Amino acid sequence: MADTVSVTQLKPCPNPWCEQSDPVVGERRDVWRAKRPLRVQCQCGMAGPDADTEAGAITAWNTRASTQPAPAFPREEVAAEVRALRDALLWYRDNAAMCRKIGSIGEPARKALDADGGKRADEVMDNSPVLAALLQGKQP
Ligand SMILES: [Zn+2]
Repeated sequence: MADTVSVTQLKPCPNPWCEQSDPVVGERRDVWRAKRPLRVQCQCGMAGPDADTEAGAITAWNTRASTQPAPAFPREEVAAEVRALRDALLWYRDNAAMCRKIGSIGEPARKALDADGGKRADEVMDNSPVLAALLQGKQP
């Protein structure tokens, strides 16, 4: 790439196998137009998107999709949500078991389940970002 200018505000080359990381702005030579687009290119062959101006090429090079995975939830947060989900399940298990008892023995559990109407489950699930991330296929 001739007609290049070294630019200090460029991010390093994103190629993990690049040993030199020496990106520069230059004309794209393989395009047959009167005014060739500019782009940032590294010695290793990694190149940024085309742009009409040097500033545009630099911005395009420096604006990248993140290659880092989303930060994981803190372990304590995951544990707290698992405990809350487990507690809700235990409450439903215990009341479901007791509501089947005949007469006054099962009455408190039947009333508790009737009064709850699923609110306990909704509340725990609505306040569970870890569960929401898992349901969206993300790693918690
Ligand atoms: Zn490189």
